[in-house]
Amino acid sequence: MKNVICARCVKCGKEYEAIPNLENCTCGGILDIIYDYDYIKTKLTKDVLSKRGDYSMWRYREVLPVEEDTENTKLRVGWSPLYDEPRLASMLGIAKLYIKDDGLNPTSSLKDRASAMAVAKALEAKAEVIGCSSTGNAASSLAGNAAAAGLKTYIFVPARAPKGKVAQLVTFGANVISVDGSYEDTFKISAEAIKKWGWYNRNAAINPYLSEGKKTVSLEIGEQLKWVCPDFVAVSVGDGCTIAGVWKGFKDLYALGLIDRLPRLISVQAAGCCPINRAVAENKPWYPMEENTLADSIAVGVPRNPDKAINAIIESNGIVINVTDEEIMAAQKLLGTSCGVFGEPAGVTGTAGLKKACEEGLIPKDATVVSIVTGNGLKDVDNTIKAVKAPVVIRPDMESLIEAFKAGGIMPKEKMA
Ligand SMILES: *Cc1c(COP(=O)(O)O)cnc(C)c1O
Ligand SMILES: [Zn+2]
Repeated sequence: MKNVICARCVKCGKEYEAIPNLENCTCGGILDIIYDYDYIKTKLTKDVLSKRGDYSMWRYREVLPVEEDTENTKLRVGWSPLYDEPRLASMLGIAKLYIKDDGLNPTSSLKDRASAMAVAKALEAKAEVIGCSSTGNAASSLAGNAAAAGLKTYIFVPARAPKGKVAQLVTFGANVISVDGSYEDTFKISAEAIKKWGWYNRNAAINPYLSEGKKTVSLEIGEQLKWVCPDFVAVSVGDGCTIAGVWKGFKDLYALGLIDRLPRLISVQAAGCCPINRAVAENKPWYPMEENTLADSIAVGVPRNPDKAINAIIESNGIVINVTDEEIMAAQKLLGTSCGVFGEPAGVTGTAGLKKACEEGLIPKDATVVSIVTGNGLKDVDNTIKAVKAPVVIRPDMESLIEAFKAGGIMPKEKMA
Protein backbone atom coordinates (compact mmCIF):
# COMPACT_ATOMS: atom_id res chain seq x y z
CA MET A 1 0.00 0.00 0.00
CA LYS A 2 1.66 3.20 -1.19
CA ASN A 3 -0.58 5.40 0.97
CA VAL A 4 0.14 3.63 4.28
CA ILE A 5 3.38 4.05 6.21
CA CYS A 6 2.83 1.56 9.03
CA ALA A 7 0.61 0.51 11.90
CA ARG A 8 1.57 2.13 15.20
CA CYS A 9 0.60 1.09 18.74
CA VAL A 10 -1.48 3.78 20.45
CA LYS A 11 0.02 2.79 23.82
CA CYS A 12 3.76 2.30 23.32
CA GLY A 13 4.35 3.66 19.81
CA LYS A 14 5.87 0.43 18.45
CA GLU A 15 5.52 0.23 14.67
CA TYR A 16 4.46 -2.73 12.55
CA GLU A 17 4.23 -3.42 8.84
CA ALA A 18 0.55 -3.01 7.82
CA ILE A 19 -0.17 -6.62 6.77
CA PRO A 20 -3.84 -7.69 6.37
CA ASN A 21 -3.82 -9.90 9.49
CA LEU A 22 -2.87 -7.24 12.02
CA GLU A 23 -3.81 -7.74 15.65
CA ASN A 24 -2.86 -5.97 18.86
CA CYS A 25 0.67 -4.86 19.80
CA THR A 26 2.77 -7.14 21.99
CA CYS A 27 2.11 -4.64 24.82
CA GLY A 28 -1.64 -5.22 24.42
CA GLY A 29 -2.29 -1.80 22.86
CA ILE A 30 -4.40 -1.42 19.74
CA LEU A 31 -2.71 -0.32 16.52
CA ASP A 32 -3.50 2.77 14.47
CA ILE A 33 -2.91 2.98 10.72
CA ILE A 34 -0.48 5.76 9.80
CA TYR A 35 -0.78 7.35 6.35
CA ASP A 36 1.51 9.22 4.01
CA TYR A 37 -0.66 12.33 3.70
CA ASP A 38 1.81 14.11 1.40
CA TYR A 39 1.43 11.29 -1.09
CA ILE A 40 -2.37 11.09 -0.67
CA LYS A 41 -2.70 14.87 -1.14
CA THR A 42 -1.42 14.52 -4.69
CA LYS A 43 -4.16 11.96 -5.47
CA LEU A 44 -7.23 12.95 -3.46
CA THR A 45 -8.41 16.51 -3.95
CA LYS A 46 -11.75 18.31 -3.84
CA ASP A 47 -11.65 18.47 -7.60
CA VAL A 48 -11.02 14.74 -8.03
CA LEU A 49 -13.87 13.95 -5.65
CA SER A 50 -16.29 16.32 -7.35
CA LYS A 51 -15.90 14.30 -10.56
CA ARG A 52 -16.11 10.87 -8.97
CA GLY A 53 -19.16 8.73 -9.69
CA ASP A 54 -18.71 6.16 -6.92
CA TYR A 55 -21.17 6.98 -4.14
CA SER A 56 -20.02 4.46 -1.55
CA MET A 57 -17.36 4.45 1.16
CA TRP A 58 -14.85 3.37 -1.49
CA ARG A 59 -14.94 6.82 -3.08
CA TYR A 60 -12.23 7.62 -0.49
CA ARG A 61 -9.96 4.69 -1.43
CA GLU A 62 -6.86 6.89 -1.49
CA VAL A 63 -7.14 7.33 2.25
CA LEU A 64 -8.24 3.78 3.02
CA PRO A 65 -5.80 0.97 3.93
CA VAL A 66 -6.33 -1.34 0.96
CA GLU A 67 -4.05 -2.48 -1.85
CA GLU A 68 -4.58 -0.72 -5.16
CA ASP A 69 -5.84 -3.90 -6.83
CA THR A 70 -8.22 -4.90 -4.04
CA GLU A 71 -11.74 -4.78 -5.38
CA ASN A 72 -14.43 -2.64 -3.79
CA THR A 73 -16.74 -4.81 -1.72
CA LYS A 74 -20.02 -5.55 -3.39
CA LEU A 75 -22.79 -4.15 -1.19
CA ARG A 76 -23.24 -0.38 -1.44
CA VAL A 77 -21.93 0.75 1.95
CA GLY A 78 -21.75 4.43 2.85
CA TRP A 79 -22.81 7.73 1.30
CA SER A 80 -25.76 7.77 3.65
CA PRO A 81 -27.91 10.91 3.55
CA LEU A 82 -27.09 13.97 5.64
CA TYR A 83 -30.40 15.68 6.33
CA ASP A 84 -30.66 19.38 7.17
CA GLU A 85 -33.16 19.53 10.07
CA PRO A 86 -34.11 23.16 10.76
CA ARG A 87 -37.23 22.30 12.82
CA LEU A 88 -35.40 19.98 15.19
CA ALA A 89 -32.53 22.49 15.36
CA SER A 90 -34.88 25.21 16.54
CA MET A 91 -36.50 22.83 19.06
CA LEU A 92 -33.04 22.19 20.48
CA GLY A 93 -32.11 25.87 20.33
CA ILE A 94 -29.15 25.56 17.97
CA ALA A 95 -28.41 27.24 14.64
CA LYS A 96 -27.96 24.18 12.42
CA LEU A 97 -28.55 20.48 12.87
CA TYR A 98 -27.79 17.72 10.42
CA ILE A 99 -28.85 14.11 10.89
CA LYS A 100 -26.58 11.57 9.22
CA ASP A 101 -28.75 8.48 8.81
CA ASP A 102 -26.40 5.53 8.78
CA GLY A 103 -29.29 3.18 9.40
CA LEU A 104 -29.68 3.30 5.61
CA ASN A 105 -26.65 1.13 4.98
CA PRO A 106 -27.21 -2.29 3.34
CA THR A 107 -27.56 -4.20 6.61
CA SER A 108 -28.95 -1.09 8.33
CA SER A 109 -26.15 0.15 10.58
CA LEU A 110 -22.89 2.08 10.55
CA LYS A 111 -21.11 -1.23 11.24
CA ASP A 112 -21.33 -1.97 7.52
CA ARG A 113 -18.44 0.44 7.05
CA ALA A 114 -16.20 -1.64 9.32
CA SER A 115 -17.41 -4.97 8.01
CA ALA A 116 -16.86 -4.01 4.37
CA MET A 117 -13.30 -3.09 5.32
CA ALA A 118 -12.87 -6.40 7.20
CA VAL A 119 -14.08 -8.32 4.15
CA ALA A 120 -11.67 -6.42 1.87
CA LYS A 121 -8.76 -7.21 4.20
CA ALA A 122 -9.83 -10.84 4.65
CA LEU A 123 -9.76 -11.20 0.85
CA GLU A 124 -6.27 -9.68 0.79
CA ALA A 125 -5.26 -12.21 3.47
CA LYS A 126 -6.74 -14.97 1.26
CA ALA A 127 -8.91 -16.01 4.21
CA GLU A 128 -11.98 -18.15 3.62
CA VAL A 129 -13.59 -17.75 7.02
CA ILE A 130 -14.13 -14.66 9.18
CA GLY A 131 -15.00 -14.81 12.87
CA CYS A 132 -16.33 -12.19 15.23
CA SER A 133 -18.33 -11.50 18.33
CA SER A 134 -20.82 -8.73 18.48
CA THR A 135 -23.72 -7.17 20.32
CA GLY A 136 -25.60 -7.67 17.02
CA ASN A 137 -24.84 -5.13 14.33
CA ALA A 138 -21.20 -6.01 13.74
CA ALA A 139 -22.46 -9.55 13.35
CA SER A 140 -25.25 -8.84 10.89
CA SER A 141 -23.10 -6.46 8.85
CA LEU A 142 -20.25 -8.94 8.68
CA ALA A 143 -22.63 -11.74 7.73
CA GLY A 144 -24.11 -9.66 4.90
CA ASN A 145 -20.89 -8.25 3.51
CA ALA A 146 -19.15 -11.62 3.75
CA ALA A 147 -22.05 -13.41 2.04
CA ALA A 148 -21.81 -10.95 -0.86
CA ALA A 149 -18.11 -11.83 -1.19
CA GLY A 150 -18.64 -15.58 -0.89
CA LEU A 151 -16.87 -15.85 2.46
CA LYS A 152 -17.97 -18.02 5.40
CA THR A 153 -18.58 -16.56 8.86
CA TYR A 154 -18.70 -17.81 12.44
CA ILE A 155 -20.47 -15.28 14.58
CA PHE A 156 -20.91 -15.15 18.36
CA VAL A 157 -23.72 -13.03 19.80
CA PRO A 158 -25.03 -12.67 23.35
CA ALA A 159 -28.40 -14.41 23.79
CA ARG A 160 -30.03 -11.00 24.37
CA ALA A 161 -29.39 -9.88 20.74
CA PRO A 162 -32.71 -8.59 19.28
CA LYS A 163 -34.63 -10.80 16.86
CA GLY A 164 -34.24 -8.51 13.85
CA LYS A 165 -30.47 -8.81 14.01
CA VAL A 166 -30.55 -12.57 14.49
CA ALA A 167 -32.96 -12.86 11.54
CA GLN A 168 -30.40 -11.02 9.40
CA LEU A 169 -27.63 -13.39 10.52
CA VAL A 170 -29.46 -16.55 9.61
CA THR A 171 -30.67 -15.07 6.33
CA PHE A 172 -27.10 -14.21 5.38
CA GLY A 173 -26.08 -17.80 6.11
CA ALA A 174 -23.75 -17.14 9.03
CA ASN A 175 -22.86 -19.90 11.46
CA VAL A 176 -24.45 -18.25 14.50
CA ILE A 177 -23.48 -19.12 18.04
CA SER A 178 -25.77 -17.56 20.62
CA VAL A 179 -23.90 -17.30 23.93
CA ASP A 180 -25.89 -17.48 27.13
CA GLY A 181 -23.89 -14.73 28.85
CA SER A 182 -22.80 -11.10 28.61
CA TYR A 183 -21.06 -9.44 25.66
CA GLU A 184 -17.82 -9.86 27.62
CA ASP A 185 -18.38 -13.65 27.81
CA THR A 186 -19.27 -13.68 24.12
CA PHE A 187 -16.11 -11.80 23.18
CA LYS A 188 -13.85 -14.15 25.15
CA ILE A 189 -15.19 -17.37 23.68
CA SER A 190 -15.03 -15.92 20.15
CA ALA A 191 -11.40 -14.90 20.67
CA GLU A 192 -10.52 -18.46 21.69
CA ALA A 193 -12.33 -19.96 18.72
CA ILE A 194 -10.75 -17.53 16.25
CA LYS A 195 -7.33 -18.48 17.56
CA LYS A 196 -8.02 -22.20 17.55
CA TRP A 197 -9.33 -22.34 13.98
CA GLY A 198 -7.28 -19.52 12.50
CA TRP A 199 -10.16 -17.47 11.06
CA TYR A 200 -9.77 -13.87 9.93
CA ASN A 201 -10.50 -11.77 13.05
CA ARG A 202 -13.14 -9.04 12.78
CA ASN A 203 -13.27 -8.34 16.51
CA ALA A 204 -13.47 -4.65 17.40
CA ALA A 205 -10.26 -3.30 18.89
CA ILE A 206 -8.21 -6.25 17.76
CA ASN A 207 -8.43 -5.48 14.07
CA PRO A 208 -7.14 -1.92 13.52
CA TYR A 209 -8.70 -1.66 10.06
CA LEU A 210 -12.25 -1.51 11.37
CA SER A 211 -12.16 2.08 12.57
CA GLU A 212 -10.55 2.97 9.21
CA GLY A 213 -13.76 1.77 7.58
CA LYS A 214 -15.89 3.61 10.09
CA LYS A 215 -14.01 6.87 9.53
CA THR A 216 -15.61 7.15 6.10
CA VAL A 217 -18.71 8.49 7.85
CA SER A 218 -16.75 11.65 8.65
CA LEU A 219 -15.16 11.87 5.21
CA GLU A 220 -18.70 11.92 3.83
CA ILE A 221 -19.88 14.52 6.35
CA GLY A 222 -16.99 16.75 5.28
CA GLU A 223 -17.83 16.41 1.61
CA GLN A 224 -21.61 16.66 2.13
CA LEU A 225 -21.10 19.91 4.08
CA LYS A 226 -18.98 21.20 1.19
CA TRP A 227 -15.83 21.04 3.30
CA VAL A 228 -17.12 23.25 6.09
CA CYS A 229 -16.37 21.49 9.36
CA PRO A 230 -19.29 21.27 11.85
CA ASP A 231 -18.74 22.57 15.39
CA PHE A 232 -19.91 19.37 17.10
CA VAL A 233 -20.52 15.75 16.14
CA ALA A 234 -22.69 13.63 18.43
CA VAL A 235 -22.43 9.84 18.38
CA SER A 236 -23.25 6.90 20.64
CA VAL A 237 -20.43 4.89 22.17
CA GLY A 238 -20.12 1.21 23.09
CA ASP A 239 -16.73 -0.38 22.41
CA GLY A 240 -15.46 3.00 21.28
CA CYS A 241 -14.47 1.96 17.76
CA THR A 242 -17.10 4.19 16.13
CA ILE A 243 -16.17 7.43 17.88
CA ALA A 244 -12.49 6.66 17.26
CA GLY A 245 -13.30 6.25 13.58
CA VAL A 246 -15.32 9.44 13.49
CA TRP A 247 -12.36 11.34 14.93
CA LYS A 248 -9.86 9.68 12.58
CA GLY A 249 -11.97 10.71 9.59
CA PHE A 250 -11.95 14.36 10.58
CA LYS A 251 -8.23 14.25 11.34
CA ASP A 252 -7.63 12.79 7.87
CA LEU A 253 -9.63 15.60 6.28
CA TYR A 254 -7.66 18.13 8.25
CA ALA A 255 -4.30 16.52 7.43
CA LEU A 256 -5.22 16.55 3.75
CA GLY A 257 -6.15 20.23 3.91
CA LEU A 258 -9.76 19.49 2.97
CA ILE A 259 -11.13 21.18 6.12
CA ASP A 260 -9.46 23.92 8.11
CA ARG A 261 -10.43 22.99 11.67
CA LEU A 262 -11.72 20.04 13.70
CA PRO A 263 -15.07 19.47 15.41
CA ARG A 264 -15.68 18.74 19.09
CA LEU A 265 -17.07 15.26 19.75
CA ILE A 266 -20.12 14.62 21.89
CA SER A 267 -19.66 11.10 23.28
CA VAL A 268 -22.98 9.67 24.40
CA GLN A 269 -23.41 6.52 26.47
CA ALA A 270 -26.29 4.96 28.37
CA ALA A 271 -26.33 5.96 32.03
CA GLY A 272 -26.60 2.26 32.92
CA CYS A 273 -23.42 1.42 30.98
CA CYS A 274 -20.94 4.25 30.52
CA PRO A 275 -17.41 3.10 31.38
CA ILE A 276 -15.75 5.28 28.70
CA ASN A 277 -17.59 8.48 29.60
CA ARG A 278 -17.02 7.81 33.28
CA ALA A 279 -13.28 7.49 32.70
CA VAL A 280 -13.18 10.82 30.84
CA ALA A 281 -15.39 12.58 33.41
CA GLU A 282 -13.35 11.30 36.35
CA ASN A 283 -10.05 11.65 34.51
CA LYS A 284 -9.12 8.15 35.65
CA PRO A 285 -8.45 4.86 33.84
CA TRP A 286 -11.65 3.07 32.81
CA TYR A 287 -12.94 0.08 34.71
CA PRO A 288 -15.77 -2.37 33.91
CA MET A 289 -19.41 -1.55 34.45
CA GLU A 290 -22.68 -3.50 34.32
CA GLU A 291 -24.53 -3.69 30.99
CA ASN A 292 -27.71 -2.06 32.15
CA THR A 293 -29.55 -0.47 29.20
CA LEU A 294 -32.09 -1.40 26.56
CA ALA A 295 -29.76 0.06 23.92
CA ASP A 296 -28.25 -3.37 23.25
CA SER A 297 -25.67 -2.22 20.69
CA ILE A 298 -23.94 -0.03 23.26
CA ALA A 299 -24.45 -2.28 26.27
CA VAL A 300 -20.70 -2.83 26.51
CA GLY A 301 -19.45 -3.12 30.08
CA VAL A 302 -15.88 -3.94 29.08
CA PRO A 303 -15.12 -1.71 26.09
CA ARG A 304 -12.69 -3.15 23.55
CA ASN A 305 -11.43 0.13 22.18
CA PRO A 306 -11.25 2.44 25.19
CA ASP A 307 -7.83 3.90 24.40
CA LYS A 308 -8.63 5.22 20.92
CA ALA A 309 -12.04 6.41 22.10
CA ILE A 310 -10.82 8.24 25.18
CA ASN A 311 -7.95 9.81 23.19
CA ALA A 312 -10.46 10.98 20.58
CA ILE A 313 -12.80 12.55 23.13
CA ILE A 314 -9.98 14.33 24.96
CA GLU A 315 -8.09 15.42 21.83
CA SER A 316 -11.26 16.95 20.37
CA ASN A 317 -12.01 18.81 23.60
CA GLY A 318 -15.15 16.70 23.59
CA ILE A 319 -18.19 16.52 25.81
CA VAL A 320 -19.36 13.34 27.57
CA ILE A 321 -23.08 12.85 28.21
CA ASN A 322 -24.95 9.89 29.67
CA VAL A 323 -28.63 9.36 28.97
CA THR A 324 -31.28 7.19 30.61
CA ASP A 325 -33.28 4.60 28.71
CA GLU A 326 -36.28 6.96 28.96
CA GLU A 327 -34.27 9.71 27.28
CA ILE A 328 -33.21 7.25 24.56
CA MET A 329 -36.82 6.25 23.90
CA ALA A 330 -37.87 9.90 23.84
CA ALA A 331 -35.17 10.61 21.23
CA GLN A 332 -36.45 7.73 19.14
CA LYS A 333 -39.86 9.37 19.09
CA LEU A 334 -38.43 12.84 18.54
CA LEU A 335 -36.40 11.76 15.50
CA GLY A 336 -39.33 9.80 14.15
CA THR A 337 -41.91 12.53 14.52
CA SER A 338 -39.78 15.55 13.60
CA CYS A 339 -37.46 14.06 10.94
CA GLY A 340 -39.04 10.83 9.71
CA VAL A 341 -35.89 8.99 10.73
CA PHE A 342 -36.31 5.65 12.49
CA GLY A 343 -33.33 4.66 14.62
CA GLU A 344 -32.77 1.74 16.95
CA PRO A 345 -32.18 2.68 20.61
CA ALA A 346 -28.37 2.83 20.30
CA GLY A 347 -28.88 4.51 16.93
CA VAL A 348 -30.59 7.54 18.45
CA THR A 349 -28.54 7.71 21.64
CA GLY A 350 -26.28 10.37 20.10
CA THR A 351 -29.29 12.56 19.44
CA ALA A 352 -30.60 11.93 22.97
CA GLY A 353 -27.26 13.12 24.32
CA LEU A 354 -27.22 16.14 22.04
CA LYS A 355 -30.66 17.14 23.33
CA LYS A 356 -29.46 16.82 26.90
CA ALA A 357 -26.27 18.76 26.18
CA CYS A 358 -28.38 21.56 24.67
CA GLU A 359 -30.65 21.59 27.73
CA GLU A 360 -27.62 21.77 29.99
CA GLY A 361 -26.34 24.79 28.06
CA LEU A 362 -23.22 22.99 26.83
CA ILE A 363 -23.80 23.80 23.16
CA PRO A 364 -23.56 27.44 21.99
CA LYS A 365 -26.70 28.69 20.23
CA ASP A 366 -24.84 29.51 17.01
CA ALA A 367 -23.41 25.99 16.71
CA THR A 368 -23.65 23.68 13.70
CA VAL A 369 -24.06 20.10 14.89
CA VAL A 370 -24.10 16.73 13.15
CA SER A 371 -25.84 13.88 14.96
CA ILE A 372 -25.11 10.44 13.58
CA VAL A 373 -27.93 7.88 13.69
CA THR A 374 -25.95 4.65 13.81
CA GLY A 375 -28.58 1.95 13.32
CA ASN A 376 -32.10 1.42 11.95
CA GLY A 377 -35.13 1.02 14.18
CA LEU A 378 -36.51 -1.99 12.33
CA LYS A 379 -33.76 -4.08 13.89
CA ASP A 380 -35.35 -3.92 17.30
CA VAL A 381 -39.07 -3.37 17.05
CA ASP A 382 -39.95 -4.83 20.47
CA ASN A 383 -38.14 -2.10 22.38
CA THR A 384 -39.52 0.57 20.07
CA ILE A 385 -43.15 -0.36 20.55
CA LYS A 386 -42.59 0.32 24.25
CA ALA A 387 -41.37 3.82 23.42
CA VAL A 388 -44.25 4.95 21.25
CA LYS A 389 -48.03 4.91 21.46
CA ALA A 390 -49.76 1.79 20.11
CA PRO A 391 -52.05 2.56 17.14
CA VAL A 392 -55.83 2.87 17.66
CA VAL A 393 -57.86 -0.24 16.85
CA ILE A 394 -61.39 0.13 15.39
CA ARG A 395 -64.26 -1.97 14.09
CA PRO A 396 -64.54 -1.57 10.30
CA ASP A 397 -67.25 1.13 10.43
CA MET A 398 -67.37 4.94 10.43
CA GLU A 399 -68.98 5.18 13.86
CA SER A 400 -66.10 3.33 15.44
CA LEU A 401 -63.63 5.47 13.45
CA ILE A 402 -65.15 8.71 14.72
CA GLU A 403 -65.22 7.41 18.30
CA ALA A 404 -61.54 6.57 17.99
CA PHE A 405 -60.73 10.04 16.57
CA LYS A 406 -62.48 11.61 19.56
CA ALA A 407 -60.85 9.33 22.11
CA GLY A 408 -57.42 9.88 20.63
CA GLY A 409 -57.85 13.65 20.21
CA ILE A 410 -57.04 13.34 16.50
CA MET A 411 -60.36 14.48 15.00
CA PRO A 412 -59.60 15.72 11.44
CA LYS A 413 -60.65 19.21 10.26
CA GLU A 414 -63.99 19.42 8.38
CA LYS A 415 -63.60 19.41 4.61
CA MET A 416 -64.06 22.89 3.07
CA ALA A 417 -67.49 23.28 1.44
C1 LIG B 1 -21.83 -0.69 17.51
C2 LIG B 1 -22.81 0.39 17.58
C3 LIG B 1 -22.55 1.60 18.24
C4 LIG B 1 -21.29 1.90 18.97
O1 LIG B 1 -20.11 1.61 18.29
P1 LIG B 1 -18.82 1.18 19.11
O2 LIG B 1 -17.76 1.04 18.13
O3 LIG B 1 -19.18 -0.10 19.80
O4 LIG B 1 -18.58 2.26 20.11
C5 LIG B 1 -23.54 2.56 18.22
N1 LIG B 1 -24.73 2.35 17.62
C6 LIG B 1 -25.01 1.21 16.96
C7 LIG B 1 -26.32 1.07 16.30
C8 LIG B 1 -24.06 0.20 16.93
O5 LIG B 1 -24.35 -0.94 16.30
ZN1 LIG C 1 2.41 -1.34 22.15
